[in-house]
Amino acid sequence: MSARLIPPSTELTQPYWDATRREQLVIQQCADCADRIFPPRARCPKCGSAQLEWQPVSGRGVIYTYTVARRAPHPVLAEQCPITIAVVELEEGPRMISNLTGCDPNEVEVGMAVQVAFEAIDDSDVVLPVFKQA
Ligand SMILES: [Zn+2]
Repeated sequence: MSARLIPPSTELTQPYWDATRREQLVIQQCADCADRIFPPRARCPKCGSAQLEWQPVSGRGVIYTYTVARRAPHPVLAEQCPITIAVVELEEGPRMISNLTGCDPNEVEVGMAVQVAFEAIDDSDVVLPVFKQA
């Protein structure tokens, strides 16, 4: 468990947060053109279809880029600094902004293989997907 800023859940994103509570990572896939989509959208950005389905993904990816926050961007995060904020390119294609945990920020490299992990947030029913070195 850790303290974090709680991301808002909306009708659009509810299936995503329901899945993270089951420790499963899901993204949308277009039923018409098969494009894989993240972050969640109401329509496919490639073909405009509203026929989007939630599909589990492997949780494997690589670091596309990252930064290290050594000063907390919010007081609730102060005890967690330094925080490695990464753009992870999922094996299935889409990129996801998340945190890289359990890894010395000085050892992070672009292209490093990572695997999703799940972190319960204090005083909430939110489970955040984070990434660890694979
Ligand atoms: Zn589409």
